[in-house]
Amino acid sequence: MEGQKPNTGVRGNQSEIQVSEPYRAANRKLHPADTVVDVSGVKIGGGHFAVIAGPCSVESEEQILTVAQKVKASGAELLRGGAYKPRTSPYAFQGLHDQGLKLLCKAKQATGLPIVTEIMSLEHLDLFADVDLIQVGARNMQNFELLKQLGRSQKPILLKRGLANTIEEWLMSAEYILAGGNPNVILCERGIRTYETATRNTLDISAVPVIKAKSHLPILIDPSHATGLPWLVEPLSKAAVAVGADGVMIEVHNNPKEALCDGPQSLTPEQFDHVMQSVLSLVQFEQKAM
Ligand code: PEP
Ligand code: MN
Repeated sequence: MEGQKPNTGVRGNQSEIQVSEPYRAANRKLHPADTVVDVSGVKIGGGHFAVIAGPCSVESEEQILTVAQKVKASGAELLRGGAYKPRTSPYAFQGLHDQGLKLLCKAKQATGLPIVTEIMSLEHLDLFADVDLIQVGARNMQNFELLKQLGRSQKPILLKRGLANTIEEWLMSAEYILAGGNPNVILCERGIRTYETATRNTLDISAVPVIKAKSHLPILIDPSHATGLPWLVEPLSKAAVAVGADGVMIEVHNNPKEALCDGPQSLTPEQFDHVMQSVLSLVQFEQKAM
């Protein structure tokens, strides 16, 4: 509406404080306390280390139910699985779409795990009513109309960093959602493009303390997309703990060799179980030391 002031999430006399950064609602200077996002009972942020796990894509009922049960048994608190997939090739598997969302809901019913899945188009928003945490993927980080619309809802949003975006651009994208009136934003560092070819992307681990200094929003690490290599998931998940991230998101497939998307970087449930044991013991060690 014309003349209407944008809701920047800034209350009281904080609105008078001038900051040099272009983001206000996401700015720690104006909101010193850590934001804790409640995803259907699972708290993300504020010292709790949360683990999201599941396949890149939902492929079948058996696949998603099997993986959901296994990752839950290993200690994951949220289930991921793509129904709408952003693929580089139009000939690659695009996801099961609304059918995939239904299968995710079945897995949620069976296990009690809240579900995380990516939205690619505003047109699909109504179908996401039962999704607990809506992912905005790297390729849509600057889809501003999508961000504005998600700002009008109260759903928790997992905002991944764009493939070649700066931290300030990323926080400005978060600002779009916050400024619309939705305070439930979680950031996810998933690796950025560099000249390095040994890994799929380069994990910008320093993004975690930098974000923590600049913003109150929780931040997760996605070591699967950051590296493209399953054996790097464990050391980089431990790095996520050490550097103060609020959790990790890890791809797990019951049969990575046959996966329709991102098989090469996916852990088997057994590998995931091993990673969880070593990561959660590091979390406990850090908590005791504090
Ligand atoms: C994904 O999570 O499967 C995905 C496509 O991630 P990103 O947007 O980080 O590439
Ligand atoms: Mn993937």
